[in-house]
Amino acid sequence: MKLATRGFDFHCHIDLFPNPQEIVRSCEAEQILTFTMTTTPKAWPQNRKWTADSRYVHCALGLHPELVSERASEITLLEEYMEHAPLVGEIGLDASPKHKKSWESQVEIFTRVLRRADDLGGRVLSIHSRRAAKQVVDAIHDSSSRNRIIPILHWYSGSHSVARKAVELGCYFSVNAQMLSRESGRQLVDAIPNDRLLIETDSPFTSANGRPCRPGDAIVTAQELARLKGMPSDELHEIIRTNSSRVLSFAKI
Ligand code: MN
Repeated sequence: MKLATRGFDFHCHIDLFPNPQEIVRSCEAEQILTFTMTTTPKAWPQNRKWTADSRYVHCALGLHPELVSERASEITLLEEYMEHAPLVGEIGLDASPKHKKSWESQVEIFTRVLRRADDLGGRVLSIHSRRAAKQVVDAIHDSSSRNRIIPILHWYSGSHSVARKAVELGCYFSVNAQMLSRESGRQLVDAIPNDRLLIETDSPFTSANGRPCRPGDAIVTAQELARLKGMPSDELHEIIRTNSSRVLSFAKI
């Protein structure tokens, strides 16, 4: 039976809200299909408990590149848990000045995660690529294969040419309101093929109307995306729903 869905949030952090269980309940009540990230493998078992009974919220296992400098040793735990985690995130690379010192370690960990996901197969990865889009896409090319994983580039801000390469490799893009608020972001999103579009909030790191976003804000983002693509909201909703079914069935969830 098809799950009635009013919105989609493919990248958020429910465990960083003051009351994660309340956010899970709101996703159920508002019918928001949600992928919630973890930033360290140690957080995954608790997140799994919070989301175990939810039809709408699915929990991903991650090791955030911004935390690699302190938590690189958790890669072995990540690899171990990956056997039981069809969704992996937040992972990726961050080349901004603040995180440059952990770059080598970030590359090693990201490569190991890609290879492990490729070995296991059926893994969907939500990937951070701040100032590192080219390196992320090259790593996906070198260390995974198209029929084994689905990479979702979260909050992509790289070039158009790297985005085209990502599309060729089978990547999806989860788009948030911040990306649509700038002309460069709008042009980029406009160039992404419809069958690769997903929506996200990256809540609680983003804000709307002076308060932190919640997964339900993805409904408004979808309306803005429909305007950008020049189509009625229900048509865009159907496109995202179809893309989301493809991703969920790949991950067997
Ligand atoms: Mn995030």
